[in-house]
Amino acid sequence: MSKPIETSSGHRGLDLAEPLIFELDGPGRCGVDLPEPDAVTNRLGGLERQAAIGLPGLSEPQVVRHFVRLSRNNFAIDAGLYPLGSCTMKHNPRLNEKVARLPGFADLHPMQPMETVQGALELIDTLAEWLCALTGMSAIAMSPAAGAHGELCGLMCIRAALEAKGDARQVVLVPTSAHGTNPATAAICGYRIEEIPADDRGRVDLAALKEKLGPHVAAIMLTNPNTCGLFETQIVEIAEAVHAAGAYFYCDGANFNAIVGKVRPGDLGIDCMHLNLHKTFSTPHGGGGPGSGPVVLAEALAPYAPLPMVVRGADGLELVEHKSEALGTAASFGRLKGFHGQMGMFVRALAFILSHGADGLRQVSEDAVLNANYVLARLQDLLTLSFPGPCMHEALFDDRFLQGTGVSTLDFAKAMIDEGFHPMTMYFPLVVSGAMLIEPTESESKDSLDQFIATMRHLAERARQGDAGYFAGAPHLAPYRRLNETQAARQPVLRWRPAVQEAAE
Ligand SMILES: *Cc1c(COP(=O)(O)O)cnc(C)c1O
Repeated sequence: MSKPIETSSGHRGLDLAEPLIFELDGPGRCGVDLPEPDAVTNRLGGLERQAAIGLPGLSEPQVVRHFVRLSRNNFAIDAGLYPLGSCTMKHNPRLNEKVARLPGFADLHPMQPMETVQGALELIDTLAEWLCALTGMSAIAMSPAAGAHGELCGLMCIRAALEAKGDARQVVLVPTSAHGTNPATAAICGYRIEEIPADDRGRVDLAALKEKLGPHVAAIMLTNPNTCGLFETQIVEIAEAVHAAGAYFYCDGANFNAIVGKVRPGDLGIDCMHLNLHKTFSTPHGGGGPGSGPVVLAEALAPYAPLPMVVRGADGLELVEHKSEALGTAASFGRLKGFHGQMGMFVRALAFILSHGADGLRQVSEDAVLNANYVLARLQDLLTLSFPGPCMHEALFDDRFLQGTGVSTLDFAKAMIDEGFHPMTMYFPLVVSGAMLIEPTESESKDSLDQFIATMRHLAERARQGDAGYFAGAPHLAPYRRLNETQAARQPVLRWRPAVQEAAE
């Protein structure tokens, strides 16, 4: 293997080296010319700045180049396929971005008088109606700021409902394949977590679940389709067993993209579910913007939803901030968040919904499932499929095909970077060894999937031919070579260093 070429500038081709913004600082540099202030009166009661506060001084072109260079170190859905399983990294339609930037939405202030935000409330209310209709649920809490926050909201509703019955319970059941946020949420809510194993079909083991149920169980948190990309075929029986034990059924709805327009979770016996607007309904995700995790609630949990709520009153729409018998908010557990959610995300999600329409949303899930199954079908002879297909929106492979090659899932993923592909989700879910979870979403064309598949096949064959050294050194071409990930997380080095130096350490 040849040594990477060292350059005198530190740049690698057009991958430009970039120092910290503080290292670009120069005395007297500024992006604007301001006149010297005259006759300044200090209105801070005599408080004076004792020393410079250390903000870097840069000209406007320097600032622009700094951030553009840094942004070129990022990979984004706008640059290429982003097959992160469980993340639904789909295209963000530009129409959504355009409407979210309309000043009437973008410049809203959360403290504006109610009569000046009627349009915004109307939009929130319309989106809420769509989300309830798509999920078959009777109420919705719009304020949660992301999926994990939605889980918190849902479990707080469940806890409030149980407390209202005087029925304190201690345990939340979570399948072994669950996203890490599920047990974390239950623990934050003060519950003890008990795991339910998966069966050999990658689904919840119903018999094991029934054994765990009892008067101490507050809820089950289940993802459907689950994180193996499989529909929980016994979900109705699961719901019945959970309800028979007096517990509630929380569904993690992060994978709703696989079933939107096809199945209404409310019809399956689910009591409460969060939606990731930043997955299913486009809207930038993965460092691209804030999240939004509305929670839909069945009738039994609706009275416990957080405040404020949008309510249609005699004078138009209002945000009800208080508990009220008349408005059905009497049993609310209170406020979850400072204000009423992420307006920009609501605008984008509604734009996505209205531009697709009911039939278009159904096609979203059908195309997402079709794309995932195309990947599955074209790779299953070379990679090892964890559970027999067909799958839903994502295909789960494991590392059995790498056995004896000296190549790990991590090595394989790093080699994908050299080929211009963002790796899939790795080592999750935990129920299989060396997981590779691939979610193409509906926005990829057949051409783009074919390129991806060809690359995956090439790498799988290369690994089998015993080229472990190549994989161990990957990525060879990325601006950064392989980091010690544990150390990088604990002692991040943010200063730019040439990759050659990195490799030598
Ligand atoms: C993404 C995801 C979450 C968490 O959502 P955030 O918006 O990242 O908090 C929870 N569960 C599953 C299955 C997910 O895929």
